[in-house]
Amino acid sequence: MNIDSYSNNFGQRTVLTIYAHADDEVLPAAGTLSLMSKAGWNIRCLILTDGNLSSSPIKGTRHQEADAAGKIIGATYEFYALEEYNFSTQAVIKVTEEAIGRWQPDLIITHAPQPEKYGHRDHEVCAIAVSNVATRKNITLWYSAPPVFLRGFEPNFFVDITSVIEEKVAAIGCYESELNKAFMQLDAILVLSRFWARELGQKDGYFEAFEISRQCVDASFFTAMANNHQVIKHS
Ligand SMILES: [Zn+2]
Repeated sequence: MNIDSYSNNFGQRTVLTIYAHADDEVLPAAGTLSLMSKAGWNIRCLILTDGNLSSSPIKGTRHQEADAAGKIIGATYEFYALEEYNFSTQAVIKVTEEAIGRWQPDLIITHAPQPEKYGHRDHEVCAIAVSNVATRKNITLWYSAPPVFLRGFEPNFFVDITSVIEEKVAAIGCYESELNKAFMQLDAILVLSRFWARELGQKDGYFEAFEISRQCVDASFFTAMANNHQVIKHS
C-alpha cells in the first residue's frame, strides 16, 4: 500500500480535533497543533457548540476568537451549534462521521473521557461519541489533557512544545471572553506545561501531554522516528 494512498490532498496528513467548546482545543493542544502545522499537516478544528452557556459575561464572540487563534497555530475551524449540556452522543457521532467523510483525517484528537464526577458533561459525551467513531473506523485517536481535575487521564505521549510556547500562550490569549477562568491564566498554562516536563524528568522546557487511545501507523512512522533522535533519546 502506498503510504500516501489514504491521505487526502496529495499526501498531506490531516489532524481533526473535535471539542465541545471553542478554547477546549488550544489549552491542551495548541503547541502540538502549531508544530504539526509547521510540519505541513492540515489542521482542522471542529467545535460542537457556540459556548454561550460559559460563565463568561461576554457572549457570542467565541467563534471569532477561535478563528484568531487558528491564524496563530495554523488551524481552520468549523463550528456546529449543538445544544450545550443537552447534546446527545448520537448527534456527535453524526457530526464526527460527516467530518471524517470531508477531511479523511489520519489522526483525531478529542477530550479525555472522564467520569462526570470529575469532568464536564459536554466533554464526556464528546469523548465517548468520538471514541466510538474513531474505533469503528480504525482511525488513530489521542485524548488531550483535561483543563483541571486530571483524574482518569493517563498520559503516555508527550510533545515538547518549548519552541512554540509563545504561540500557545498567544492562541489562548485570543479567547478574551474566557480569560477570567483560572486555568486560562498565563501562570496556570506555564505551570501545567512545566508539570509535564517534570513528569518526564526534565528540568526545563514545556510539554503537552496526550493519552493514546489507539494508534495506527505505517512505515513512514518509523522513518520519522529514525530521523528524530530527540524522541528516541527521551523515550
Ligand atoms: Zn469545554
